[in-house]
Amino acid sequence: MRNITITYKTKQFKILLKRYLSIAVKNEKGVVAVIVAFAMVAILGMAALSLDMGTAYLSMGKMQKAIDAAAYSAGRQLPVRVDDYYAINAIKEKAAQYASINGCDTLSASDVTLGGAVFDYYTNIQIQTQGSVDTSFARIFGVDSLDFTKKAMVKMSAIEQTTGLTPLGVEKVEFQQIVQKQLTDGIQKAVLKNSAGGGIGPFYSILDYDGKGGQGVDYSRDLGPLGYTGVVKVNDILFKGFGAKVGISNEIYEAHACPHYPACTPENYVYGCPSILKIPVYTVVDKKTIRVDGFAAFLLQPRTEEEKSSDAIVGIYVKSLSTGTASGGDVTESDFNWLQTLMLVE
Ligand SMILES: [Zn+2]
Repeated sequence: MRNITITYKTKQFKILLKRYLSIAVKNEKGVVAVIVAFAMVAILGMAALSLDMGTAYLSMGKMQKAIDAAAYSAGRQLPVRVDDYYAINAIKEKAAQYASINGCDTLSASDVTLGGAVFDYYTNIQIQTQGSVDTSFARIFGVDSLDFTKKAMVKMSAIEQTTGLTPLGVEKVEFQQIVQKQLTDGIQKAVLKNSAGGGIGPFYSILDYDGKGGQGVDYSRDLGPLGYTGVVKVNDILFKGFGAKVGISNEIYEAHACPHYPACTPENYVYGCPSILKIPVYTVVDKKTIRVDGFAAFLLQPRTEEEKSSDAIVGIYVKSLSTGTASGGDVTESDFNWLQTLMLVE
């Protein structure tokens, strides 16, 4: 956003004008001198403007990039509770820190505001800061500096299509119950898959993303930390996987182990940790197919012996952000629990 204010000191200019006008009155040749003088002023003025504006635009572009990067990096901590002052301050400090890394030292925590509250959670970050460029040529006309204001904003927006999904899923009504229970009773473990191939609507099984069957071959590939490399969209019809081999859950636990110390928890996790599984939330269409309603993130949890023996996969719903193509709309109460991505709004 371009917003320039020029503080013009007219004193020097007035002195010049007065001097030339007095010459013009006394001397005919002076009229020519006045014309030449004004022409020079105009030409010099244009040159000053183009040179100094060029410098200013460079500087403004650099600041814009720095605060965009700052907003984006700090935004990864969203959403944050409106009364979690510790987390809010941490986000603001982080924004200032990232701006500094990117060459903007003037951003302070007070230039950062959080907004877009949904269910008592902030869903966007706005940064507004002032910059100034010292002029070189325009100084002749008393313009010592050019001041400008720069803004950046990132917001959460529900993901409509994405890649990197783990071939598990959670049925929509069950998902809503998990989230609701978590809201009222605190953090809840959810079973994302039970014994191989078992269960019906909700089926605690594996999804066959490419729909080619594969008897476990493509499941194994999709189970890895990168997930399914193809794109899955809201309203896509997907096939349930059949014939998945026993022990597939162990593969998921190995491939998605948290590499962090201390290990990621639902309250404190690293953005993009492999132990955060990205999965579709679906509605059952028929015996073989499901329809994608949205996406959600679950943090993989350690299993009890009983869960291990039934080849279960256990996770906890987290409000993590991820990558993907968003609707572009602001977060609403109806899509707040879906997986969100971060968007830069100019
Ligand atoms: Zn981790």
